[in-house]
Amino acid sequence: MRSGRNTWKRLKHVAEIEPFDAVDVIRIKRDGGTVEEPALRWMIDAYTRGYVSDAQMASFAMAVLQRGMARDEIAVMTDAMIQSGERMDFSKLGKPTVDKHSTGGVGDKITLPLAPLVASFGPAVPQLSGRGLGHTGGTLDKLESIPGWRANLSNDEMFEQLRTVGAVICAAGSGLAPADKKLYALRDVTGTVEAIPLIASSIMSKKIAEGTGALVLDVKFGSGAFMQDFDRARELAQTMVELGTDAGVATTALLTDMNTPLGLAIGNANEVRESVEILAGGGPADVRELTIALAREMLALVGQPDADVEAALDNGQAMDTWRAMIAAQGGDPDAQLPEPRETHTIVAERDGFVTSLEALPFGIGAWRLGAGRARAEDPVIFAAGIDLHKQLGDEVKVGEPLFTLLADDAARFERALEAVEGALVIGDAAPAPRELVRERVSA
Ligand code: URA
Repeated sequence: MRSGRNTWKRLKHVAEIEPFDAVDVIRIKRDGGTVEEPALRWMIDAYTRGYVSDAQMASFAMAVLQRGMARDEIAVMTDAMIQSGERMDFSKLGKPTVDKHSTGGVGDKITLPLAPLVASFGPAVPQLSGRGLGHTGGTLDKLESIPGWRANLSNDEMFEQLRTVGAVICAAGSGLAPADKKLYALRDVTGTVEAIPLIASSIMSKKIAEGTGALVLDVKFGSGAFMQDFDRARELAQTMVELGTDAGVATTALLTDMNTPLGLAIGNANEVRESVEILAGGGPADVRELTIALAREMLALVGQPDADVEAALDNGQAMDTWRAMIAAQGGDPDAQLPEPRETHTIVAERDGFVTSLEALPFGIGAWRLGAGRARAEDPVIFAAGIDLHKQLGDEVKVGEPLFTLLADDAARFERALEAVEGALVIGDAAPAPRELVRERVSA
């Protein structure tokens, strides 16, 4: 009896022996080597289980940032993160699924008009989104400014909405790629966000686990984007398109300019207002252009390359799907959106043309006004943000309004003004027109 218990203890001990050592894996990457598939899969799994520590994973992430990863390693890393959680399956929906992911930018509200626009042609658009952190806003924060609208849906509710309405924008459940959730939070505080293999595997693990059949990536470059440099943005796009394609998801990417904000509204409620203008056939030309370009890409991937997306914006077809999508999640599409208590308008001091309008300072300004959050648990102020009255290249006359700060507390204006100081320049001649969609990447 005694010896039997000892034997059981010994066996239990043997079963707990890990097949690899995190220090060995870190050293391989630190010295520029390739980590073999079983070791890399173990590293991700052991980190998710808590066996590999944050310190070890941070060290590994830093080694990846400095040494890079081979394509095969990125594919293994992506798959290991997918395997860490659940994988959704929309195959029983009876219609194709297509999604869009943007790497994030200032004034980027495109998901709001795009999802109902594409769904209005028949495919299902399961758009699992996040909240904003730092200067780029989150899609869910914007939609939550609509009274009654809720972001959290069960898988059954999501499935039903995709079946009936066609479009759903909701919070990604915690079951999707939990390894990425843990690793992304760690990268955020260890200066390791910017590694292309880590960004690509992070984004694509979530998108592949989400179960979409087709995916269009809006990869931003420029001063308001993650990837400021065009060539790095292109490398990120190519990496993600390959990962998606290899995993059986029809994937393409557009490389789009994020040096200057998209549209006139930066914030939450004001971005919803602008999105509704787009759905009503109006709105700023750049927001309409990008919405149309992405919708065409998405519809081409699901076999509708000739869909008349412009007409669907102009004739109310997309608006009908928007209203149904908002109502299905408890929102009132006709409700009054929150208004700011305080506003402060800056006017032009001279005649001329807007020759520079930098995205990043305006993103930071809107964030300091309360539109974004510094910590994941902070609330956002729905009415806060910035309304631009002019865009890059517009002509201005002295005394004309350039932009308006929106806040609940006038005490916030000073730091927001510091952020945007010098970010809007008026010169003598109109700059060359911006090429919003610079390149398309496909497999
Ligand atoms: N978005 C993600 O989901 N992951 C990254 O690594 C960067 C942006």
